[in-house]
Amino acid sequence: MLRVEYREGLYLPDLDLWLDAEGQRELCVISHAHSDHIAEHRAIIATPATARIFRHRRGEAEVITQHYGERRDYGRYALTFYPAGHCLGSAQVLVEADGERLVYTGDIKLRPNVAAEDAVIVPCDTLVMESTFGEAQYRFPPDVVTNERLYAAVDRARSDERVPVVLAYALGKGQEALELLLRRDYRVTLHGSVWNVAEIYRELGVEFSGPYERYDREHLRGRVLIAPPGCRRQPMVQNIERRYTIMLTGWALNKRAPFMYRGVDLVLPLSDHADYDDLVRLARESGAQRIITMHGPAKFAAALCELGFNAEHLAPHPSTIDKTKKRAPKKAATAIEQTLFD
Ligand SMILES: [Zn+2]
Repeated sequence: MLRVEYREGLYLPDLDLWLDAEGQRELCVISHAHSDHIAEHRAIIATPATARIFRHRRGEAEVITQHYGERRDYGRYALTFYPAGHCLGSAQVLVEADGERLVYTGDIKLRPNVAAEDAVIVPCDTLVMESTFGEAQYRFPPDVVTNERLYAAVDRARSDERVPVVLAYALGKGQEALELLLRRDYRVTLHGSVWNVAEIYRELGVEFSGPYERYDREHLRGRVLIAPPGCRRQPMVQNIERRYTIMLTGWALNKRAPFMYRGVDLVLPLSDHADYDDLVRLARESGAQRIITMHGPAKFAAALCELGFNAEHLAPHPSTIDKTKKRAPKKAATAIEQTLFD
């Protein structure tokens, strides 16, 4: 079986293959272009959409693009991408080598995403899965319920003559929120970083349900503003005297959410990640005999074992532990706040 290591990125030493490495590499497979999954590599392998967004965020690199479902041979291994439903172009990576099928999910959302391709579950022998919400408290309500709460909050804010400010990170959630709001005919204005990515989505063929504008402080009346979460403490949002802030995040279900998002008026559980039940479903339907969890609580692997799966949590490789420890507080804050992906 292929050895799997976490060395500030996923590493398959038998194949000398890097996936989502956090530091510069000669060649790296990129599952999606969130900032915690990309670095200034010399060459990358990615879907065309991820490669385009990577260029926007990290500049030039030698790029090998592969469409979903297109299998390509790289000598010691073959790679195929499948949709991950997390943001436009996000991919699960099937690695085939030595007769083994290994799938790395990257960040994944199994529920339909109104602004990304629908995820599929890929049969495999080894499943390396993200498990951000791998605790039973994270069972998201049906999206239709959350969406209605969003619309009701926006309506309430407007009737109270407050500007609704929806906090969603620049790649993925921002465009999802945009599409949800446009489907109800709201006038929407976007922070520059959300706008930039929305324009790339359009260039890549996404048809939003209506027009939208780039933020202009003279023209906020009657609009809903979408801005990255970090903006809530910045003048752009702070200077809106009558505002109503709505944060969209799976962490809404954490009982500490009111403290984590102090000052936010409403926190709604709309996530671009799979919830607990979907993570278990992913493990089951993949048919994998070996499951390796990462980017989440170690106890998720224990919970899977109790359900009869052969699962283990991928601990950082010993050579990287010191560095990981030093950076732990920052990483924890990043995961909780979900603010830095612009
Ligand atoms: Zn992500």
